[in-house]
Amino acid sequence: GCKHIPTGPIETTKCDYETIESVNGELYSQLNDLVRTPFFRYFRADLYRECPFWQENGLCMNRECGIATVDESEIPEKWRAASLSKVEMPPDEMRNTLPGCYYRDSDFCFLDDMTEGDYIDLTMNPERFTGYSGAPANRVWSSIYKENCFGISEVMLRSERHDPANSFADALRGELEEQDEMCTEKKVYYKIISGLHASISTHICRDYLNQSTGEWGSNLQCFVTRVASHPERLQYIYFNTVLLLRAFARLGPYLSAYDYCSSGTHEEDAYTLTKLGSVIGIASVVGQFDESSLFQGQDANVLKEEFKTHFRNVTRIMDCVGCDKCRLWGKVQTSGLGTALKILFELDERALDPKTNPNLLSRNEVVALVNTLHRFVESLQFVDEFRRMWAGVDKSQ
Ligand code: FAD
Repeated sequence: GCKHIPTGPIETTKCDYETIESVNGELYSQLNDLVRTPFFRYFRADLYRECPFWQENGLCMNRECGIATVDESEIPEKWRAASLSKVEMPPDEMRNTLPGCYYRDSDFCFLDDMTEGDYIDLTMNPERFTGYSGAPANRVWSSIYKENCFGISEVMLRSERHDPANSFADALRGELEEQDEMCTEKKVYYKIISGLHASISTHICRDYLNQSTGEWGSNLQCFVTRVASHPERLQYIYFNTVLLLRAFARLGPYLSAYDYCSSGTHEEDAYTLTKLGSVIGIASVVGQFDESSLFQGQDANVLKEEFKTHFRNVTRIMDCVGCDKCRLWGKVQTSGLGTALKILFELDERALDPKTNPNLLSRNEVVALVNTLHRFVESLQFVDEFRRMWAGVDKSQ
């Protein structure tokens, strides 16, 4: 067994896996209930903004790419766009705006400005195989990996020139292996992205459409090819989980004081709070990530600003995903991770105090954070399922 509680898993250790694995089943069960509550199931997003970086015409026509939106009249009054923009939008002088979205200096992501967009019931639009693939999907992924060019774009371009088949991601990974001197922050960026990619792949493989039989089911080969044959990808799913849990633990008092009051009943809100309390309790024990060791060196502030700019761009690249359902979950998860990064690297205990700063996070940020944690914890459950499937496979053939 794993006795010591890990303290600084910027490098995730075997011990961290075991600690997470010992609580993951319970965590998953609590989060499953939580994301079905009225507060957490509705996410507001503008899915129809144009791609700001290139002309995106590879729209996915597959039925599975579509999403169902919810009529605003079904949403409690106080969350509707008109009321939200009154209370939640930071004043103009605190925002950097672009058409349809904005960010504050402390943000790691662009936030939709709530003047456009729809409510989506996340439980009705599960993340799974959609058929979105090929050049359009590849272009989005390679742009995201390219955002890690904190000065190393030269190396990546060089390796692409020499070997066009070598993807940016592979080039970068090679870089990571070769260059120990690459700063920890850049490695962290890569781990976050690669872990997100691996988590999305795990969901695709777990809910896969066999196009010849028309049946949905787990596809073990898909999981082996995309994730398990690259052990570091699996490791980064854990890495993201620990990072999110740490943010969750730090946000505990704020989340416990947040106003979940929906149109629902008192019992409904009490239920939401109980579930949330259980998740915060688990997060406080296993969310051991030492954020204080990052952004400490000589150029800490410059590096942090760079990191933020790159991560913000990733949230904008989501507008280039040509499949509505993928775009939706891409937005949820990049906002959720961006919110976690803001909590870890921008906000101290005073800022996180719900009494001094009740409007610190918007409803959408809170919803994104919880649903993103649910995605990663669910991926770990699926990994466990795949492990058991693999154990049952006759490998002699
Ligand atoms: P891809 O997953 O497209 O990967 C491209 C290349 O990146 C690989 O060849 C490999 O070199 C490298 N790579 C792969 N995984 C990793 C990793 N974890 N770390 C580092 N490098 C890696 N499709 C769906 O069916 N449902 C969805 O919900 C969905 N959501 C998406 C959300 C976003 C934001 C994006 C960009 C795409 C989404 N897709 C979704 C598409 C899906 O991710 C794949 O692009 C698609 O299934 C094609 O897969 P692929 O095998 O060609 O490799």
